[in-house]
Amino acid sequence: MKQERIAASYRLAKDFNLWKAPIPTLSIVIPAHNEERNIGEAISRVHAEVTCLVDLYEIIVVDDGSTDTTLSRAKALVADYPLRVLRLSRNFGKEQAIMAGLKVSRGKAVVILDADLQEPLSCLSDMLKAYEDGYEMVYTSRAHRADEPRSKRLFTRLFYKLLNLGADVTIPPDSRDFRLMDRRVVDALCDLPESNRFMKGLYGWVGFRSKEIKIELEPRMHGTSKFRLIELMKLALTGLTSFTTWPLRMWTLIGFSIAALSIVYGAWIAARTLVFGIDVPGWSTLAAAIFLLGGVQLVSVGILGEYVARVFGEVKGRPGFIVAEDFGPNLDGSP
Ligand code: UDP
Ligand code: MG
Repeated sequence: MKQERIAASYRLAKDFNLWKAPIPTLSIVIPAHNEERNIGEAISRVHAEVTCLVDLYEIIVVDDGSTDTTLSRAKALVADYPLRVLRLSRNFGKEQAIMAGLKVSRGKAVVILDADLQEPLSCLSDMLKAYEDGYEMVYTSRAHRADEPRSKRLFTRLFYKLLNLGADVTIPPDSRDFRLMDRRVVDALCDLPESNRFMKGLYGWVGFRSKEIKIELEPRMHGTSKFRLIELMKLALTGLTSFTTWPLRMWTLIGFSIAALSIVYGAWIAARTLVFGIDVPGWSTLAAAIFLLGGVQLVSVGILGEYVARVFGEVKGRPGFIVAEDFGPNLDGSP
């Protein structure tokens, strides 16, 4: 009880401090999971780039359950930069780490950036220019995917085709999380109640005046990508189940088509029997029909299950992430 009171008063003091502190022009949110070799350089390069562009900024590093020294390295820099470091209580995934950063960000505009610096920081000035021109969201997308294997490119193309099938809003393929958002966009994203999030879809869903900037990706500074095939599949499934309903509805059409075909086929068998006499029962047709229908039914129940699982996840109402610790920030906005 006493501990809770202390924690509450500590939070209050911190909020009060934040409230008194000037609002930065720009917040840069960096989700990081096991990025010990990248995080220091990422922070110093962001600082070098951004100090020339805006007067006041903050960097928010969200340590997404790293098992290496990412947290301690980031924490060590809190005194040197206008930096705030959040530690999530475990690995919640990039989407949640981004949300954690967005929720504590205070800037008039917010930029999301990967810790591996694959994205060119040089286009931050173009982003800010477009922002000053009145765009509320300036997002980047890959000019090409020549560096990726053919199978991954095919998978991505198919995914976006399926995702945008009959959708109300088109989610731009190849867009990155690297983007600048006005405070209104960030607030709209934070106000959404869903906890299992597919950010690329939500950026499109919230709308606002948007502009695209094409970028070339650089190779990862150190380490390897955290998104292996299995993570990509999971993300794709989250995207599909949160942004489409056609996989649920198509079974009505398939059911009707199969029923119509069965009626035609049945009528044809009846007519043939009437004209040519008793037909020899076709076991192979029966077997094929049973297997086909069995398969079709299992797939449809499986797809239903995916949506039910999603509803189940949301109904529990658990938060998408838990912040275990919050370090910094150095609030005067100066290095
Ligand atoms: N990331 C994260 N949590 C995760 C996986 C990744 O915060 O569970 C961060 C990671 O540290 C990096 C960004 O998300 O800053 C993009 O990850 P990565 O470079 O591995 O993805 P890719 O560039 O292959 O899409
Ligand atoms: Mg990367």
